[in-house]
Amino acid sequence: MPSFVITEKCDGCKAQDKTACQYICPHDLMALDREKMKAYNQEPEQCWECFNCVKICPQQAIEVRGYSDFVPLGSSTIPMRGTDSIMWTIKFRNGIMKRFKFPIRTTVEGSVDPYAGKPAPDFSTIKQPGLFTAPARKE
Ligand code: SF4
Ligand code: SF4
Repeated sequence: MPSFVITEKCDGCKAQDKTACQYICPHDLMALDREKMKAYNQEPEQCWECFNCVKICPQQAIEVRGYSDFVPLGSSTIPMRGTDSIMWTIKFRNGIMKRFKFPIRTTVEGSVDPYAGKPAPDFSTIKQPGLFTAPARKE
């Protein structure tokens, strides 16, 4: 069930260097046709159906859909992401629509400092084993 760009809605992220869907895809699948200014999934069979591109697209131009030979068409699952919640609009094949809204964070967007309380990087230790975030080893 790969992602699928609804070309009528996609605006190519207004020709930014990298589109939102390209930025977010963990598998680097999204590409932009710069002539048409439309994004597309360049390797649908590699798609993990993680919905990241669907959730980040500012135009709600991406769906994750099943192939028509085994999943009947006509239904859709479209998210609208806010700064503190996400609303899913589910359209069933018989036309029934349902909406579900969930909170997605407990802090104000942009307020978290991931490096707070951490020491400044020390490049002399870059070849040593261990991770920056790992707790100090007790000898
Ligand atoms: S994020 Fe949405 S609008 Fe932007 S290029 Fe991708 S599909 Fe198009
Ligand atoms: S659903 Fe996930 S893996 Fe598939 S194209 Fe979108 S971001 Fe990439």
